[in-house]
This record gives sequence, C-alpha cells and structure tokens, in this order.
Amino acid sequence: MYAGAKAFFYALSRSASLKGLASKYGMRSCDSFARRFIAGETVEEAIETSRRVQAEGLHLTLDYLGESVRTAEEANAATRAYVRLLDVIVAAGIERNISLKLTQLGASIDRATCVDNLRRILEPAGRHGFFVRIDMENSPWTQMTLDIFETLWQQEYRNVGVALQAALHRTERDVQRMNELGARVRLVKGAYKEPETAAYQRKADVDAAFLRLMRILLDEGTYPAIATHDPAMIDGTRAYAAGRGIGKDRFEFQMLYGIRRDLQAQLSAEGYGVRLYIPFGREWFPYFMRRLGERPANLGFVMRGILREK
Ligand SMILES: Cc1cc2nc3c(=O)[nH]c(=O)nc-3n(C[C@H](O)[C@H](O)[C@H](O)COP(=O)(O)OP(=O)(O)OC[C@H]3O[C@@H](n4cnc5c(N)ncnc54)[C@H](O)[C@@H]3O)c2cc1C
Repeated sequence: MYAGAKAFFYALSRSASLKGLASKYGMRSCDSFARRFIAGETVEEAIETSRRVQAEGLHLTLDYLGESVRTAEEANAATRAYVRLLDVIVAAGIERNISLKLTQLGASIDRATCVDNLRRILEPAGRHGFFVRIDMENSPWTQMTLDIFETLWQQEYRNVGVALQAALHRTERDVQRMNELGARVRLVKGAYKEPETAAYQRKADVDAAFLRLMRILLDEGTYPAIATHDPAMIDGTRAYAAGRGIGKDRFEFQMLYGIRRDLQAQLSAEGYGVRLYIPFGREWFPYFMRRLGERPANLGFVMRGILREK
C-alpha cells in the first residue's frame, strides 16, 4: 500500500485531463481544495500566508512551485522569478528563507545552465542574508543535485543546504558527506515512487532509516532539520536529543503547510523551532499529487471540493 499509493498518484499526476480538471477547480476560490496545501498562485498570497504563519510563532521557507522545466528559457524565467521573490521577501520584512528544485533551474537541460542559474539566486540571497534549501527530487537526480550543491559550496556559497531522503539506500553516505562539509541537511522520508534498487519499499524500513539518520545528524550534523509529520519520528527525535543533552536550539522540526497544524503548534509551544514549507505558484499540480499519494484519504476532500464547485 505504501509504495502502491505513491505509484498510483504518480501515474495520475501525468494525466493531462485530471490536471485540467484540478487546475480549473483547485484554487478557484479561497476555500478550494488545493488551498489546503498551497498558499496561493501569486506571491502576494504567499506573503499574506507567511505573515499569518509568523504571527503564530512558526518559521517558514517559501517555495515557488515548478519542476522539470524543458527549455533554457523556462529555467531562466524560473530563476528570474526567484530573484524577484528575494526582493519581495526583503520588502515584506518576512523571514528570509527559500526552497527550490534544481530541475526548475534547468538541471534536465544541462548541468552548467543549472549551476549558473543557482548562482544567480545564491549571490543576491547571500547578500541579503537568506538561507536557500535545495529540495531533493527523485533518485535519477540525487547525484546531480549533490554535485551541483558541492560545486557551489566549494565556491564559498555557504548560505545553502540540501534535503536528503531516508528512503534511499545511499543516504547514510550522503549524510556523512554533508556532515564532513558542515552543510545543513533537511532529513525527509522521500516523496517519490522509487525502484527497489534505489529505495526501501516498506514503511517500517523507511522509518528505521529515518531514525538512524536523525541520530547521526543530531550527533554530528550542522543545525539539521527533521522534516516529518510522523509522531513516532518526532517523539524519537525529542527523546534522542533529550537523552544526549542536545539543546532545542541545535536543530529544528519542519512540516508542510496545511499538514498537522495541531502538531506544529504543540511543538512550537514546547519551545522547538518549527519551520513550515509554504509552496505557492501556478505549477502546483505535481506537488499537490504527491501530497495525495502520501495520504490517499485526502482524495475524499478533493472529490467533495470538486462536486461542490461544479
Ligand atoms: C518541510 C518538508 C520538506 C520536504 N521536502 C522534501 C524534499 O525535498 N524531497 C522529498 O522527496 N520529500 C520532501 N518532503 C516530503 C517527505 O519526503 C514525505 O513525503 C512527507 O513528509 C510525508 O512523510 P512523513 O514524514 O510526514 O511520514 P508519513 O509516514 O508519510 O506520515 C505520517 C503522518 O503524517 C500525516 N501526513 C503525512 N503526509 C500527509 C498528507 N499529505 N496529508 C495529510 N496528512 C499527512 C498523517 O497523519 C500521517 O499518518 C518534505 C517534507 C517536509 C515536511
């Protein structure tokens, strides 16, 4: 079921007719179904959501949605949009933290284009005191993502970190490498349907790997982000940190906008740093479908939403 649901929703995410239907109804009004997970299609909506999130004492990272762009023009446009986003965030006075995907910046066109585009973002981001997180995409991109990250790290861009996925067999080595560099890691379970050769297929195995990697990151990492909504992972992290005398200021929890708001508030009230990943933009369909794949029960509110709006 765990891998099966992801595969099913991945197949659906490639359906043009479903995308058309979802795009028509998903964000149409302020209570449309996609708004549960996506802050809006415009940067203004994202800033408004960010202000609300900050007022609740939570931290944030803003993600301008987009991935798998096919042309250098599209990658250039996404890069320019991110550079503009930096200015908007500075002007709005909200927290300076963004997340991005390398296939949005041209990784699938060629590596040099992507490195150049990422540098165009990291440079002003560094000047304005931003932290930039590189999301991790599916496993064909893992090595390239880490190579591009290291290329820029070696060029002294240090306001940047990566996400690593517990589901992948390779991740312990990658965690160790990031710890050697002193780079900040966001640990996630992994949102993509992966082959057995690359990743654990059973939830129990992914969970065990997540806890193992969390311990390495808490012991040896640089301000790791433990990004999960799973109470067992969160409790495991809290217990391990408390047992080792690792202070609440040495790591943070991260969750996705719209998921487990109760847990977000509870952890924040207990004094843990909690950062929300806030996605916005018109290209929300693949992101939205991954959220459905993680919890097929979410399909219920989507169907109710479509029926109500039709
Ligand atoms: C801040 C952040 C950044 C991320 N960045 C990346 C990335 O760069 N690359 C990547 O591959 N993945 C990323 N992910 C997604 C991650 O890999 C998982 O797919 C996702 O977090 C679900 O796993 P979980 O740890 O919450 O555990 P699960 O075992 O999947 O879920 C635990 C519980 O959380 C709740 N829950 C989980 N997902 C949902 C949902 N969609 N809707 C409603 N409730 C839900 C349910 O109560 C569920 O029982 C990110 C996640 C977070 C929180």
